[in-house]
Amino acid sequence: MNAQVTPMMAQYLEIKAQHPDALLFYRMGDFYEMFFDDAVAAAEALDIALTKRGKHNGEDIAMCGVPAHSSESYLLTLIRKGFRVGICEQMEDPATAKKRGGSKAVVRREVVRLVTPGTLTEDTLLEARRHNYLAAYADVRGEGALAWCDISTGDFRVMRCPAVRLGPELARLSPKEVLVSDGLDIARQDSIAELGAAVTPLSPGSFDSASATKRLTELFGVSTLEGFGSFARAEISAMGALIDYLELTQKGALPLLRAPRQQSAERLLQLDTATRRNLELTHALSGGRANSLLSVLDRTQTAGGARLLERRLTGPSTDLEVIRARHEAVGFFVSDTQIRDDLESELRRIPDLDRALSRLALDRGAPRDLTAIRDGLSGAARLSDRLQDVDLPPLLRDAVAHLEGHDQLSELLDAALVAEPPVQLRDGGLIAAGYHEELDEARTLRDEGRGVIASMQAEYVQATGVNALKIKHNNVLGYFIETTATHAEKMLNPPLSERFIHRQTTANQVRFTTVELSELETKILNAGNRALEIEKTLFQSLQVAILEQQDQIGQTARGLAELDLAAALARRAREGDWTQPEMTEDRTFVIEGGRHPVVEAALAKEGAPFVANDCDLSAEDGAAITLLTGPNMAGKSTYLRQNALLAIMAQIGSFVPARHARIGLVSQVFSRVGASDDLARGRSTFMVEMVETATILNQADDRALVILDEIGRGTATYDGLSIAWATLEHLHETNQCRALFATHYHEMTSLASKLDGLTNATVAVKEWEGEVIFLHEVKEGAADRSYGVQVAKLAGLPDAVITRAQIVLDALEKGEREGGQRKAVIDDLPLFAMTPAPAPKLTKPSQVEEKLRAVHPDEMTAREALNLLYELKAEL
Ligand code: ADP
Repeated sequence: MNAQVTPMMAQYLEIKAQHPDALLFYRMGDFYEMFFDDAVAAAEALDIALTKRGKHNGEDIAMCGVPAHSSESYLLTLIRKGFRVGICEQMEDPATAKKRGGSKAVVRREVVRLVTPGTLTEDTLLEARRHNYLAAYADVRGEGALAWCDISTGDFRVMRCPAVRLGPELARLSPKEVLVSDGLDIARQDSIAELGAAVTPLSPGSFDSASATKRLTELFGVSTLEGFGSFARAEISAMGALIDYLELTQKGALPLLRAPRQQSAERLLQLDTATRRNLELTHALSGGRANSLLSVLDRTQTAGGARLLERRLTGPSTDLEVIRARHEAVGFFVSDTQIRDDLESELRRIPDLDRALSRLALDRGAPRDLTAIRDGLSGAARLSDRLQDVDLPPLLRDAVAHLEGHDQLSELLDAALVAEPPVQLRDGGLIAAGYHEELDEARTLRDEGRGVIASMQAEYVQATGVNALKIKHNNVLGYFIETTATHAEKMLNPPLSERFIHRQTTANQVRFTTVELSELETKILNAGNRALEIEKTLFQSLQVAILEQQDQIGQTARGLAELDLAAALARRAREGDWTQPEMTEDRTFVIEGGRHPVVEAALAKEGAPFVANDCDLSAEDGAAITLLTGPNMAGKSTYLRQNALLAIMAQIGSFVPARHARIGLVSQVFSRVGASDDLARGRSTFMVEMVETATILNQADDRALVILDEIGRGTATYDGLSIAWATLEHLHETNQCRALFATHYHEMTSLASKLDGLTNATVAVKEWEGEVIFLHEVKEGAADRSYGVQVAKLAGLPDAVITRAQIVLDALEKGEREGGQRKAVIDDLPLFAMTPAPAPKLTKPSQVEEKLRAVHPDEMTAREALNLLYELKAEL
């Protein structure tokens, strides 16, 4: 170690060496300071000043800092920018350090927590209505598993996950951070990072399944994990890595995690990454959340309800009983709007129980977390009372059953806490008067002391004859007596100066103290400190009382979320005049009067109606496919997506925008919609399209619902047509699924006569005076033409190009009818230059124009010009 290194710097370097991957927030008094490279990086990321402090090895030490009391907003920026932050606190009072080692002693410091994207708990750092998942992926001899948790709510789950399913599952969860073994191949790590998650490699030791079992049994206080399910080695390994990482980042204060729930992929409707994106389930293709299905569905009142909706939407069920029970619950609130209104107004006032609970469990709680629990539980109890005698469907009855049983805890919290507590525990004042005798005494002493100060001031005014004398308080001097400089003179001289001890002179004021005042101050301070100490102890005992009930409180939170979601979906269903879908075991798919919820909502804003359409894709055996043709802009994509969305909505338990819907369970939804370049990965539109199509053809089973839009459009006509043709045949013969297939290759409509399960449909348009009018009506049959030229005209292509295109099209069509070779037809076309220019607009010049044309301004006098102007104006 360098001889010039100060003891403090030595401590800093030692701690920093243990956390090379994190920025170190090193606590110094009221600030977190950063040094060296950390400071340079943080100053840039936070746009704060970079300064210097002392030297190290002869060089200036770069430094920057943020105030501790407002550190959260800085943390948020750093986390968003991809940093991890180690919070290094002072672990003792500086006075204690001095006592121990003299004035040079360094305060003991420790990293108390590593803040990473997946381990946030603060409300300011989290999105209330979204989960914040931390995931771990383990691979034990080729067998994969994914575990994930949200430490801000305690949700903890695990599933087997073969490598090929990792992408889709991560797309479903969209975790903020994924733990992998640092042995995992880099390409896989990169593909995880592409999904937007921070990838954190851990040593293989973290994934060791034997020590994982130990960690898990210890954490949940059980002797075996069998009670939670029968786990594969990889599952245990993934869960173990999560716990290991939490221990590492939370420095031992383990978050409250519920017992792990094993999820099986079969019970969820499978949606791959492209499908989720294409169908805009949680994010619109444009990136934002507006105009996603989630945003159009969400009418929840609580953050917990919103998170439940997001979970359901990203993992719709395939369990008929579960789905029916959810529909029944929504149906209840659709018909009973009075109860729903009551429920919603109560829910609106209920705070986020889950997140308050998790902060308390991590010992990171604040007074408002206690009142959140108090208010949440009392709200839940009121709801339970309200719903007690109501005849509820089973799902809601179960939810309500979880709302009760907190009377004792509620009473305790009601008695102990004030209505509106302070933000910080250290400010005191959260415990209600009358709850704790000693606390009341200490407070009385403190407050009486303050009363005595008032009388002391009156006495001093009299004693000195200085009317402007005041007793004031600030954090530096404590209590002091203040007068203006003009009156101070006599107090600075005997005899008054014997009693009034001078402390400070400012520009206009002079400040004094007295022996009595200091004594009183000590008394007030002591009483105040004593009160604060008692409050801290009481806070802790309330925290313990809450955590003893954590499982039941968690259940209550889930019950509330379930009620909230059912009511919200009911509200949405009534708003949109949606209907309860009938769910069946077979492979029916009959929609009458179906609508696209997002497009309909967007059109409604412009006052435009949405044209409802039917869809029948029922299959007894084999495939049921509709081949949809029609011009661009007719509404093909909208129709395709709307039917896929209806299936997904039905299976999350929602009603659907249709007059009537009968849906046989769907196991997977696949979509290949629209064309998007994935330039970041060096793939052309065509390549993306083919990769997505390959996934579908390889994976769709006979319960899948597939929508394919304009397959093959990204390549030359014949290539494209051939690929589309073969794809359709494969879906029909091999996958044998329900599918909607939109194409602009009219040639394909002839397939309907060869394939039993294939029907043709088209979106109707009307032609009127050479223009197309879109009716958006899907009906049986094939489109006769594509109206591409007319659509191009609507888009504003120059008239010359439109006229020319029409000539080329006519020639090609004529050649085709007469059996001519395409090349010959093309060679015969007149040159572009020969295309007649579009006829000029023939309109008669107006009177005003004619008059103007006839005048010669140079020959006119000013008077004549003015008269003409009057004349012209009169013509208008
Ligand atoms: P295509 O896929 O045939 O090119 P789109 O599905 O993209 O057409 O639809 C084009 C536009 O037509 C949409 O943006 C929407 O505004 C409107 N549209 C589509 N379907 C309907 C409908 N059923 N009712 C009303 N407007 C519709």
